[in-house]
Amino acid sequence: MIVMEESLKKIKQQLHEAGFKLTPQREVTVKILLENEKDHLSAEEIYMQVKNQHAEIGLATVYRTLEILTDLQIVNKISFQDGLARYDLNRDGARHFHHHLLCIQCGNIEEVHEDMLDEIEKEVEKKFNFFVKDHRLTFHGICSDCQEKAKKS
Ligand SMILES: [Zn+2]
Ligand SMILES: [Zn+2]
Repeated sequence: MIVMEESLKKIKQQLHEAGFKLTPQREVTVKILLENEKDHLSAEEIYMQVKNQHAEIGLATVYRTLEILTDLQIVNKISFQDGLARYDLNRDGARHFHHHLLCIQCGNIEEVHEDMLDEIEKEVEKKFNFFVKDHRLTFHGICSDCQEKAKKS
């Protein structure tokens, strides 16, 4: 809970610095994102949860808030195999977007917060004369739960 307060405070400051206010409607949306950090929710899923708590907040407001948060790189928009845009919070101070492990059997998504790609980035920069700012990486495979289940059956 304390962690969330801290994160909320930081996001509020980031918005403020960019000339936006953390209005109550925006705050609800941000809280939903923080509470479900691991879940990679789509805009509709975020809206459903916002609506549960505050029926008066409309879909357009939620979309607009997500747009602002994406522009400010507080969240990243990412899509996995279902092609749906999902919203993913940027970890504070992370130089790079985190990686994902996507289970092709159960659809579970795990996060990897180590970078591991420093060497590859250097190589790409040298080989292609391309200044790397970030990267997206999703590993597709079978999660440990699914491997266990396969062993038992
Ligand atoms: Zn993620
Ligand atoms: Zn799985």
